[in-house]
Amino acid sequence: MPKANRCKKRAVFLDRDGVINLPPKHRFIRHWDEFRFIPGTLAAIRRMTVRKIALVIISNQSGVGRRIMSRARLEEIHRRMMAAVRRHGGKILAAYYCTHHPDRRCGCRKPKTGMLTKAAREHGIDLNRSIVVGDRETDILMAHAAGCRSALVLSGKHDRKSASRLAVRPDKIFPDLSRTVPWILKEMQKKPSAAIPTPGRPA
Ligand SMILES: [Mg+2]
Ligand SMILES: [Zn+2]
Repeated sequence: MPKANRCKKRAVFLDRDGVINLPPKHRFIRHWDEFRFIPGTLAAIRRMTVRKIALVIISNQSGVGRRIMSRARLEEIHRRMMAAVRRHGGKILAAYYCTHHPDRRCGCRKPKTGMLTKAAREHGIDLNRSIVVGDRETDILMAHAAGCRSALVLSGKHDRKSASRLAVRPDKIFPDLSRTVPWILKEMQKKPSAAIPTPGRPA
């Protein structure tokens, strides 16, 4: 039996490249040596952790499926990133990576919603009350398809000018994750009463 909505938690879904770390120079981050945290990101993750916000990473890493990098290398980057987050007082609940080649047409590669729905299932997350932070159109499309709110950050793929030309409208645009945190904290405090009441249940 599915858990009642009010028992489910909210989450903030973070894209990795362009949100947590600087976007790769050559399409994929293949080694930990190439991984650079965007300034302020570790502190931003700590601030959200302190406020008990569930953080989940959602990232396309088709470099594995394209055989440009090994799965072991991706896992190593993940471990070292998580260790750095912990050292700085942050906590990330879970991370989901789509490693498939785009030709596979899997259900998890963004803008598809497979990673979000899997996270929701595995961790009891209410997507309609959750937020996606990403630097690309695909992040925003995924967010809206799954009923999440969205913030586009300008620390990766887009600057303000190119962001204004996107066909998709994010709910908010911020320079980077650090400056997204005040909005996230405000959204996360909103009472569930703002949601549509459950049918058949007296108010
Ligand atoms: Mg990205
Ligand atoms: Zn996939």
